[in-house]
Amino acid sequence: MPPMSRFRSLKATVLNNELIIVASEIVNFDSELPHYKTEDGVYRDPADDGHIFSPTIMWIEAFELLLEKLKPKINFSKVVAISGSGQQHGSVYWKKGSHTVLSSLDPSKSLLSQLKDAFSTMDSPIWMDSSTTKQCREIENAVGGALELSKLTGSRAYERFTGPQIRKIYQTAPNVYEDTERISLVSSFMASILVGNYASIDETDGAGMNLMDINQRTWSKAVLEATAPGLEEKLGKLAPAYAVAGRIAPYFVERLQFDSNCLVIQWSGDNPNSLAGLTLNTPGDLAISLGTSDTVFGITAEAKPSLEGHVFPNPVEPDGYMVMLCYKNGSLTREDVRNRCAEKSWDVFNSYLDKTPPLNGGKLGFYYKDHEILPPLPVGFHRYIVENLNDATSDNPVVCEVEEFDPPSEVRAIVEGQLLSMRGHAERFGMPYPPKRIIATGGASSNERILNSISQIFGCHVFTVERPDSASLGAALRAAHGWLCNEQGSFVPISCMYQGNLEKTSLGAKLAAAAATGEDAAGNELLDKYTVLMRKRMEIERRLVEKIGRV
Ligand code: ADP
Repeated sequence: MPPMSRFRSLKATVLNNELIIVASEIVNFDSELPHYKTEDGVYRDPADDGHIFSPTIMWIEAFELLLEKLKPKINFSKVVAISGSGQQHGSVYWKKGSHTVLSSLDPSKSLLSQLKDAFSTMDSPIWMDSSTTKQCREIENAVGGALELSKLTGSRAYERFTGPQIRKIYQTAPNVYEDTERISLVSSFMASILVGNYASIDETDGAGMNLMDINQRTWSKAVLEATAPGLEEKLGKLAPAYAVAGRIAPYFVERLQFDSNCLVIQWSGDNPNSLAGLTLNTPGDLAISLGTSDTVFGITAEAKPSLEGHVFPNPVEPDGYMVMLCYKNGSLTREDVRNRCAEKSWDVFNSYLDKTPPLNGGKLGFYYKDHEILPPLPVGFHRYIVENLNDATSDNPVVCEVEEFDPPSEVRAIVEGQLLSMRGHAERFGMPYPPKRIIATGGASSNERILNSISQIFGCHVFTVERPDSASLGAALRAAHGWLCNEQGSFVPISCMYQGNLEKTSLGAKLAAAAATGEDAAGNELLDKYTVLMRKRMEIERRLVEKIGRV
């Protein structure tokens, strides 16, 4: 079941009927498809600051290569359902007449050779793009402001969201827009190839477009009008993430011997798939994903959209919502500090974390290597020292700005700073404090020192999953769930599939960092100081946004 994890690679995870992983594979875009000359799977346009995109057809070629690599490992004829995970917000533009090509693929030829001319633009805007500020403001203004748009669609307008991206194409390349018969998200694009038909956009990934009415789960006429003319027919219908997109196309039956009854379940975005893969189900459960970008998410019963963060429909239940905070500066920015200050080595990075005390002597760093989303600040580094943090009598610590930190402090500052920001924003967004438990995932969750800081700063236990690609695993689990709902003829809760049996499946989580709070006085005192530091950070952040923030 092949999901696409964010943008650097395409990964496949195959589960058996006991929800145990029986095979996995990966295709790395830069190294295995070097002819596209991408860096980290993307292009950065030197002539247009913030314009970041990926070559659409690279994903098709990666998909074919992934299937070739999987072929000796699994019997495709035994696969009963496939779903997947596409990087959220990325979009694909099918050229007029392409449906005919898509629905009549010749199994004797490659997908790439048949689909390479099927797109009205070869460039897919992706989540890293920040070049659509003008379009964001126009859409917000047209519906009565940022907060109104958030109430309507679950988020204010964000540069990376698909609606503003579509508007930019409509405005700057009207011929491309005109020549487009269908717009897919990366997720529905891959599902379309598998079913040989245009697949619906799923409601959860669809909520990352600034186009869907979050309460009705239908396209919002007001926002469609504010975005581009004739858009509704180019988007097609919406469907729940657990719905069947269709049966697998004859192309895959004949070429790779898939069973013609194999179901394709709606693909969704990387974050909704991670939520499914982490088995989040109880209020107070929080997930922190430390991947290329950093994200924080949990489940709520009600939609309470605000100016920060996002609300999406829960991808695994017909009711309820998932809330999400998303940072653009995640692992790549930590790597930048590692490369500048810690000899390009995680070992040295960790030895600096060992060398520096929790709270870092009050040193607070803000590191934005790319334009940040949360908070909306431009590229730049800012460093402060909260001077009398250890003075118990002071509830108003003094803050001074400094030019630089010594390398070990810089390392601790980037780790603690990000976690303090996550805690501050999660609490503002109504997530419970302290959380019941945190599940950490993504590449940096392999770092025990970082997990330890999470438990100190949030004051709760931190668990990790067996392996970091929970989006891929979640997509495979959703495939099984969609198949089960289809078998039963009605929706069944996803937890039925693993309740009471979780540890025997590949979905279990293990305790990685225990909270030293509760009975432990020193742990409680440390947590209290982190609370002071967190508030101070939020105050400094607010001032920075007032001074230099992007509107
Ligand atoms: P993606 O978001 O592309 O799926 P991953 O979740 O696999 O990426 O995360 C990859 C990132 O994990 C790398 O960019 C790297 O910076 C980070 N990483 C890997 N090992 C460590 C480590 N020991 N400490 C901190 N970060 C790490």
